[in-house]
Amino acid sequence: MAGCEFYFNCRLSPGGTDSKLNFTSKDGGSSVRFQRQRLSFKVRGTFRNDGFQETLPLPSSFLQGKRLSELSTFGIGGPAKYFVEVHDESEMSAVIRFCQQEDIRYFIVGKGSNCLFDDRGFDGCVILSSLKFLESDGRGVYRVGSGYPFNMLGIQASNDGFAGLEFASGIPGTVGGAVYMNASANGQETADVLKTVEVLRVDGKREVHIRADSNLVYGYRLSPYQTMDGLAAILAATFRLKPCAGARQRHRGFLERRRKTQPIAAKSAGCVFRNPGSGCESAGALIEKAGLKGAAVGLAKVSDVHANYLVNAGGSTAADMMSLIELVKSQVKDKFGVDLREEVICVPYRSR
Ligand SMILES: Cc1cc2nc3c(=O)[nH]c(=O)nc-3n(C[C@H](O)[C@H](O)[C@H](O)COP(=O)(O)OP(=O)(O)OC[C@H]3O[C@@H](n4cnc5c(N)ncnc54)[C@H](O)[C@@H]3O)c2cc1C
Repeated sequence: MAGCEFYFNCRLSPGGTDSKLNFTSKDGGSSVRFQRQRLSFKVRGTFRNDGFQETLPLPSSFLQGKRLSELSTFGIGGPAKYFVEVHDESEMSAVIRFCQQEDIRYFIVGKGSNCLFDDRGFDGCVILSSLKFLESDGRGVYRVGSGYPFNMLGIQASNDGFAGLEFASGIPGTVGGAVYMNASANGQETADVLKTVEVLRVDGKREVHIRADSNLVYGYRLSPYQTMDGLAAILAATFRLKPCAGARQRHRGFLERRRKTQPIAAKSAGCVFRNPGSGCESAGALIEKAGLKGAAVGLAKVSDVHANYLVNAGGSTAADMMSLIELVKSQVKDKFGVDLREEVICVPYRSR
């Protein structure tokens, strides 16, 4: 049992703060005596040759073994070692502080609409951002929690008669994911209408970033948060929109076009590859011209509707999807000499 990590749930009898636990191992019995003020907690620790070493108790909001397929629109991914859903800023800071203290690797997920999780899951803590508040001044300024659905924000703002987020009504992610990815469509992008972004740093400090700061560089599927040192989480974003009588009509038109040209009901992460740019055709056009519509590896398939959508046709594994991604890349490279780059984020089980 040396070096073996273990967990178990404990409940003390009312009034009691002292407990003794007995274990039986191959080498004989071991026992641990410990004290706690609370009646219910999880004990987490490690047996080493030199005895028992307890680490901080797991907060009771932490779950173990949550399947990541439930947290991604691909419907793919094995179990997370730990999983926790946070609903407000103080919960987010407590969880980040705990993970930092305990040296637990973590990953923030919004809607998981741009993530491909590993079949083995994630050997750390997956934190679901559910900071879902929305504040509006009625004049086109919206301050929104990072877990707020981006499509709902797009619909509300357009229906209120403000322009700039009409494209968002078709993007099934969260505000945090949209800022992180600088989501875009139909000639509009997130960064164009951002005013500020509120973030939490790993040292527990809170910062407000002004979009106009020229040190914060945004571009096609690029935001400063993808490479920012010390970033723990995006907490909220504020958008400034302009009045426009036609906004509602425009967002409806965008949605209609999406329904006709994209497999929006399929299990996917939207477009898997970035458009190559610089006068090149779109990634979808190149994949289609390479004759890959309908190509499959196991149950991972290139959509018949839109070739840049790779879909989980029912029970696809991450390994299937990764092989299909490699197949598409190599065939497009062979036929057109173009190197496609993934837009989707492949989240490894363990950091390399
Ligand atoms: C049907 C479909 C259509 C799509 N259409 C488009 C489109 O038109 N344009 C487009 O740009 N994208 C599109 N996407 C992709 C996806 O919806 C966007 O990239 C979206 O912005 C991702 O948001 P999310 O909340 O799902 O992020 P997730 O997939 O959960 O996460 C993406 C990345 O953001 C990080 N992240 C998320 N929240 C936070 C946070 N609070 N703090 C720090 N980091 C965070 C994650 O760690 C991860 O690295 C589409 C996807 C689907 C399934």
